[in-house]
Amino acid sequence: MAVTADVVIAGGGVIGTAIAWRAAAAGLDVVLADPAHGDAASLVAAGMLAPVSEALFGEGALLRVNLLALARFPSFAAELEQATGHRVGLRREGTLAVAYDAGDYAALTRLTAFRRSAGLEAEELDSRACRKLESFLTPDVHGGVLFPGDWSVDNRRYAAALREAAAAAGVRVVRDRVTAILTAGGADGGDARVRGVALAESGEIGSDRVVVAAGSWSGAVPGLPAGLRSAVRPVKGQLLRLRHPDGMPPVLTHTIRATVRGADVYLVPRADGEVIVGATQEERGPDLTVTAGAVHDLLHDAMSVLPVTSELILAETCAGLRPGTPDNGPIVGGAGPGGLLLATGHYRNGILMSAATADAAVACLTGRAPAPEWEPFGPGRFLTRQGER
Ligand SMILES: Cc1cc2nc3c(=O)[nH]c(=O)nc-3n(C[C@H](O)[C@H](O)[C@H](O)COP(=O)(O)OP(=O)(O)OC[C@H]3O[C@@H](n4cnc5c(N)ncnc54)[C@H](O)[C@@H]3O)c2cc1C
Repeated sequence: MAVTADVVIAGGGVIGTAIAWRAAAAGLDVVLADPAHGDAASLVAAGMLAPVSEALFGEGALLRVNLLALARFPSFAAELEQATGHRVGLRREGTLAVAYDAGDYAALTRLTAFRRSAGLEAEELDSRACRKLESFLTPDVHGGVLFPGDWSVDNRRYAAALREAAAAAGVRVVRDRVTAILTAGGADGGDARVRGVALAESGEIGSDRVVVAAGSWSGAVPGLPAGLRSAVRPVKGQLLRLRHPDGMPPVLTHTIRATVRGADVYLVPRADGEVIVGATQEERGPDLTVTAGAVHDLLHDAMSVLPVTSELILAETCAGLRPGTPDNGPIVGGAGPGGLLLATGHYRNGILMSAATADAAVACLTGRAPAPEWEPFGPGRFLTRQGER
């Protein structure tokens, strides 16, 4: 093989690129292979860094790794900004969760009690106090809860900065798709080791370490152990990007997560005047179409809590595929042939988890143990048959 590297990474979304940057910074010679960036989830996402308002009953281990990820994010982002000279739009105002009617408020109260019992900060607010924080909220809002522990980032700026930092650190980017993980030795996969990858157009790259970070397409990368091929599925999300007309002052400071008669909608403000409105959650395979019904429902629910939304410019509609897993947790760790590492399945929290995932992956690549919070999220939990490990 003419081309070789210490590590090849399949997938250049925020997960693969964050790993590539940190691996190169740790002294590894890295090739990042990805045929495109266009429709990746990382560019569609809302950019919430929201371990608190994402915390749900029965997902304690996920909450712990999300909190680890949030704690890591500011220093990672600061280093990224220093490396590139670009701001990534980190905001720390928190999430204001609001309930439209009494039923919505009862559900929010139950979730708030659970989040408090998990040690998370929450401040209950009546309708008037909600509007003191966000003056454009409708007076019809029943009440809300401020979760100060949630932040957000401009994920498009963040992804662009990651790409620039990776290139500056020496990462070689190949615009091509990984079509095979090449192995040597071990008849039934027992002692087999990775020896590189094959690419659709560009031949083979020799490497004794390969990272699969191909988001919702990860299971389709040929060469994964059987249980992992079906462990990641695409979960479609449609989302809108709105913009303030020239001269209009910002209509929001906090991220708003609203429940409107049982339907969830969020509005995420950016420093540059963009407001993200999202998102649907659909099991439709790899479908990336934007539907009239989704645009209608998102706008309807957004306008119900923040009527001024109707004056913003509808700048973009888009759809992306979250890499979902059966237990909603990420898959980070080694599996199958020696030298094969997975970093995928980040579902609704891949932007949040990107920095901490890069730390965990680089630890694995350099023979160190990742932080203990990652222990429940190894690939082994999806491998059942003898020889798959
Ligand atoms: C509507 C929506 C809103 C979201 N909001 C948030 C949020 O607010 N906060 C948050 O933290 N997360 C959010 N997410 C989730 C987040 O976007 C994902 O978890 C994250 O982007 C996953 O990153 P990734 O790098 O694994 O995958 P992706 O960004 O999807 O990138 C995968 C890459 O792999 C490449 N690829 C595929 N197959 C191959 C192959 N064979 N060889 C080489 N490359 C390949 C693709 O071209 C692609 O570029 C949201 C997602 C959606 C859809």
